[in-house]
Amino acid sequence: MLNSESIRKDFPMLSLRREDGKPLIYLDNAATTLKPRQVIDAVVRYYERYTANVHRGLYRLSQEVTTLYENSRETIAKFIGADPSEVIFTKNATEGVNIVAYGLDWNPGDEVITTVMEHHSNLVPWQIVRDKFKVKLKFLDITDDGYLDVENFTSLLSKRTKLLALNYVSNVVGTINPVEKLVKLAHEREILVLVDAAQSTPHIPIDVKKLGCDFLVFSGHKMLGPTGIGVLYVSKDASNVLQPAFGGGEMISKVDLVKPEWNDMPWRFEPGTPNVAGAMGLAAAVEYLEKIGMDNVRKHEVQLTDLALIRLGDLESVTIYGPKRAEDRGGLIAFNVKNINSHDVALFLDELENIAVRSGLHCAEPLHRRLGVQSSVRASFYIYNTIEEVNLLCNTLEKISKLL
Ligand code: PMP
Repeated sequence: MLNSESIRKDFPMLSLRREDGKPLIYLDNAATTLKPRQVIDAVVRYYERYTANVHRGLYRLSQEVTTLYENSRETIAKFIGADPSEVIFTKNATEGVNIVAYGLDWNPGDEVITTVMEHHSNLVPWQIVRDKFKVKLKFLDITDDGYLDVENFTSLLSKRTKLLALNYVSNVVGTINPVEKLVKLAHEREILVLVDAAQSTPHIPIDVKKLGCDFLVFSGHKMLGPTGIGVLYVSKDASNVLQPAFGGGEMISKVDLVKPEWNDMPWRFEPGTPNVAGAMGLAAAVEYLEKIGMDNVRKHEVQLTDLALIRLGDLESVTIYGPKRAEDRGGLIAFNVKNINSHDVALFLDELENIAVRSGLHCAEPLHRRLGVQSSVRASFYIYNTIEEVNLLCNTLEKISKLL
């Protein structure tokens, strides 16, 4: 296990107490994570010491902050095994998907394959593309135990398949999808692949070159970073097929009244003043995670998830969705308690023990339909969560199910 005690000291939110003295048991990390002091300090440092715009001024301060901004990009690129020119700063994962959706050159009859286990962020943009450009949208199903139905992938392919867009780790069933294998199958047919890594970059080691994907997106706020900053990775090869969908300052190298010439990668996809404080905060988050080691982050979460799967699995009134083995999932578990609405379960956990979990559809409505449920409760873990917190969650759920 990680040394949670020393890690927890870095997170100001964890020292807060409710009026009744109960500490915050934060188990909603798939929605957003808490921020360590190091990240908060990096953001404050920009505003207190380095406020100036980037890439614009010749004065010393502007040069300094430009260097810090580009150093942040380098830190993040190294973290995912990319070249800095392949790392585009976005607002969040959602924006990254949209930049790809609007930047590819669509022809009527082109086809996109996605899956029934996507977050709306990796579904709705493709529905818009479908309706706007007369593109066909196809869905890879899941098996009843929550794995992608990979066997049926090739049956969805056609000569017109242009893109496969799928998540690496589901934010509901938690399944870790065989992305590398699917990228190989897609690339054999010159199909582009976009990976939604919003639930994987924070939790498991990521190497974009090993995955082989063309595009990959994630959000800073789910990995200890600030809100309002995310990343779109675009491989060097794929950058030739992606056009900027949004124009403005910084993304051009030359403009006359007739037409602009695009700037180099990655600035071509960063129109306007970027979130400089956010980039510096995200780099601090990455440095924090690297110090712990992503293998250790993963091990810690597997241990917590394994315990939760065993303990919740013992409760007759609890139904868990997704793979039974902790090794096959990210550090999150969606479940329902028999005869109790998911929102009521969340409210009881909050009321009784100050436990924060998510309830509802988790922005994955079609997946809940596929699972045949109205909604679910989701507990999701991170580096500062402990065995004691997981036990408290399970004990309280047991109490709730007996009480009602
Ligand atoms: N994809 C997945 C799998 C997610 O879990 C989320 C966030 N819940 C997103 C995309 C969207 O992230 P954001 O709202 O930060 O853009």
